[in-house]
Order: sequence, then structure tokens, then C-alpha cells
Amino acid sequence: MRAEVEQGAASEAVPPDGARTLGTVACVLTGASRGFGRSLALALCRRVRGTGSCFLLLARSREGLAGVAGELRAACPGLEVRCEAVDLGTEEGLQRAQRATGELPQGQERLLLIHNAGSVGDISKYFVDHANLTELNSYFAFNVVSPMCLTAAVLRAFVKRAGLRRVVVNITSVCALEPCKSLALYCTGKAARGMMFQVLAVEEPDVRVLNYSPGPLDTDMFQLVCTDSVDPEIRCEFQDMQRNGEVSDCNVPAEDLVNRLLEDTFQSGSHVAFRDP
Ligand code: NDP
Repeated sequence: MRAEVEQGAASEAVPPDGARTLGTVACVLTGASRGFGRSLALALCRRVRGTGSCFLLLARSREGLAGVAGELRAACPGLEVRCEAVDLGTEEGLQRAQRATGELPQGQERLLLIHNAGSVGDISKYFVDHANLTELNSYFAFNVVSPMCLTAAVLRAFVKRAGLRRVVVNITSVCALEPCKSLALYCTGKAARGMMFQVLAVEEPDVRVLNYSPGPLDTDMFQLVCTDSVDPEIRCEFQDMQRNGEVSDCNVPAEDLVNRLLEDTFQSGSHVAFRDP
């Protein structure tokens, strides 16, 4: 099935302050229906040349995606926005996402693939309670395997050519580097994803690869850990972060990430955190 396509009014996008733009972009963004993905989509669309650019938004919620698509079209006239409501943890959903990337228009100056979708899994359990192969396979299919398969499909669809800058961003977390009680699945998945994209960086030197950690964010995911973690210390730690104002509005790290993409000075494959110098 073809991604739902709609285009904003055909006039040129103007960046807010006449600043640099990312040029014309083909952007594939997972987890675009809410949370950090929504903020990122909006921050990005203000920094692209609308006419000639195309965003493909992926997540399960058709309504969520449609809402974000409407916001993008209003913010960036001329931008083509496509939505594909898919569960990236399933074979069928992943295949539909891969097909939709293959159908994207080509010819832009930049390819931007952003793996933002993620989940914490069942955090009502400690490590020793995770013994079900089907459950674990399902978690890693979505959080680790699907980004790998989607990356392969996108890089095969957008082959290396003069004038095309190919960029892959993995949204990661401090949990890729440090253990956290009750988050065995999340920490393991983020660590695996981080290494996966480091390998991509060394295998494909023309592809710019960034592992970006936005820090604690005011989203559904953060709330879930506050309320549902099996570990009382972790629940307290997360609630304290909230009380102490250490949790960011998603728009702030989203802007930071877009600025880093504009500057383009990061070392390919590196782990960069919000507020890192
Ligand atoms: P949310 O849980 O708020 O949003 C997750 C996004 O992923 C949603 O758009 C959701 O859409 C999508 N998604 C979830 N499951 C699937 C699925 N099976 N198939 C397709 N899409 C799916 O998370 P955040 O916005 O907080 O997190 C975004 C990224 O930032 C994640 O990678 C997370 O690990 C990372 N991060 C978050 C931090 C935080 O404090 N929140 C801290 C550090 C990193 P839908 O439900 O419509 O499918």
C-alpha cells in the first residue's frame, strides 16, 4: 500500500530567521507521531527548503501521524509529507515501511534517516524475571532489528551519488552506556543499537552517522518509568528529576540536534549528548 501523500501549498519555505538550511531533504523519521519525534519533525521542517523536500513519517498511530503531518505542512509550505502507519516490530509493518522508503522521490541534496522510535519494554520486571523468548524477541525485533533493516533499505534506495549527503541518526540514551535497574531490555537495546551504528560508520565512510542522546524528556516514555518501574529507587530517581526541573521540553534538544546537523562537525559514529560542548 502506498504511503498517504499530501503536499503543502506550493510556495518556498523560509527559515525563521533567514539562517542556514539543510537544503532539500528526503527525511525518514520513525516514532514521529508524538513525543520527541514530533518535536524533531517540526524543528527539522523549519530548516529545510520546502519545495523539493519530502518527509516520510512512521509510527503506529494513523491519527498521531496525521496530526503531525498537518503541523509540518502548515509550518513548511511546499513540503511533501507522507505518513505510513506501521508497527515496526512486525514483519508486515517493517516491509511496508521499507516499501514506502523505496517509493520516495529522489534528487534531494540530503538524505536524513532518523531512528527515533523506541520503547522501554516490560519494566514491571527485573532481569531475572525476563525468561520468555517470544517477549524478548518481540522487544529486540522492534528496538534493534527494525532499525538495522530499515537502514539497509533506505541506503539501498538512496545510493551514494555526487551532491547527496547521506545522514543516519540514532536516538539513543545514557542507558546505552550505563546500567539502570529495571531497564535491562532498554539498556541492552540502546547499547546494541549504538554499536550497530558505529559499525555502519566504519563500513560506509560517506554516510554521516550520529548517535544522539537527548537527555531526560517530558514524554509518555519518561512518565512510564516514573510510575511503572518495578524498582522503587528508579521511580524515585525519575520523579526527582522531574521535580528538580531536569527533564527537558522536547523542543529544546530537538533544536539542538538540528543545529548539530547543520554544523555537521560531529565525528561519524560518535555518541553525542544534549548539552555536550
Ligand atoms: P514516546 O514513548 O513518547 O514515543 C515513542 C514513539 O515511538 C512514538 O511516536 C510511538 O508512536 C513510536 N512507536 C512506539 N512503538 C512503535 C512500534 N512498535 N512501531 C512504530 N512506532 C512505534 O518516546 P519518547 O518520545 O520519549 O522517545 C523518543 C526516543 O528518545 C526513543 O528512542 C527514546 O529511547 C529516546 N529517549 C527518550 C528519553 C526520555 O526521557 N523520554 C531519554 C533519552 C532517550 P506510536 O505509539 O504511534 O506507534
